[in-house]
Amino acid sequence: MKIVVCIKQVPDTAEVKLDPKTNTLIRDGVPSIINHDDKAGLETALRIREEKGGTVTVVCMGPPQADVALREALAMGADEAYLLSAREFGGSDTYATATIIAAALKKIGFDLVITGRQAIDGDTAQVGPQIAEQLGVPQVTYAESVKVDGDSVIVKRQFEDRAHVLRVKLPCLITALTELAEPRYMNVGGIVDAYAKQVKIIDFESLRNSLNPDWIGIKGSPTNVVQSFTKQAKAAGTVMKDLTADQAVAAIMDKLIARHLI
Ligand SMILES: Cc1cc2nc3c(=O)[nH]c(=O)nc-3n(C[C@H](O)[C@H](O)[C@H](O)COP(=O)(O)OP(=O)(O)OC[C@H]3O[C@@H](n4cnc5c(N)ncnc54)[C@H](O)[C@@H]3O)c2cc1C
Repeated sequence: MKIVVCIKQVPDTAEVKLDPKTNTLIRDGVPSIINHDDKAGLETALRIREEKGGTVTVVCMGPPQADVALREALAMGADEAYLLSAREFGGSDTYATATIIAAALKKIGFDLVITGRQAIDGDTAQVGPQIAEQLGVPQVTYAESVKVDGDSVIVKRQFEDRAHVLRVKLPCLITALTELAEPRYMNVGGIVDAYAKQVKIIDFESLRNSLNPDWIGIKGSPTNVVQSFTKQAKAAGTVMKDLTADQAVAAIMDKLIARHLI
């Protein structure tokens, strides 16, 4: 079984700052990490391989510096790594990103694709489902447990107030929650091996037969960031202590009335 895990290199912070002029992320001085959900997906793929055999491939679309994220994945135990990198891919929104990743996945081959549910910087949770649509395979999002059973995968899908257990036939795509699995640490042997292995580059030329230049980059991106801004910190609230429930209700009502809110 060939499992492909899509990993995104993201800034190591949930509070990404944006350049208000260009509407792009300010990455300078911010260390990069593998997105948390993706690492949980990678750990799951490694455990499936340990139980059922097969291979684990990692794929990352990004600039040449994303090589580091792929090497970390190799050091954790992935068998092979692909970096999707080209000038033509720059400026891609989620749709164009998914188009590029799907084209690469068709070339690489897969039985099971695992993406994170959501990246901590872009936060859209769109790329996984869009890849599945473009590959024409079934998808299960928000996976909190995954088990391979014959030609299918059994996935526990998380909802706010309940869970569904679904059986989905391979090939398929699953989007992983961070809770899916606690990622293992890299070991020293793994780190040495990771630097001996090759990270294969997939550029625009390698995908030219399946990728129209009009479908990718800014040209192929239907979304546009019109404005971006950082939220201002809220004023500190008032803490009312040592009140009974009735006193607390009365105090809140007084405040709301004083401000003409009710
Ligand atoms: C108009 C526009 C222009 C943009 N231009 C650029 C640009 O020039 N450079 C740039 O870096 N970003 C750019 N972006 C942002 C880029 O589109 C998103 O970072 C990317 O599509 C991923 O979206 P997300 O972070 O919301 O991922 P989500 O949909 O939240 O991610 C879900 C999962 O998809 C997978 N995934 C997502 N992205 C990747 C990836 N790159 N490689 C492998 N797996 C991945 C991961 O498994 C991830 O957990 C642009 C966005 C817009 C709207």
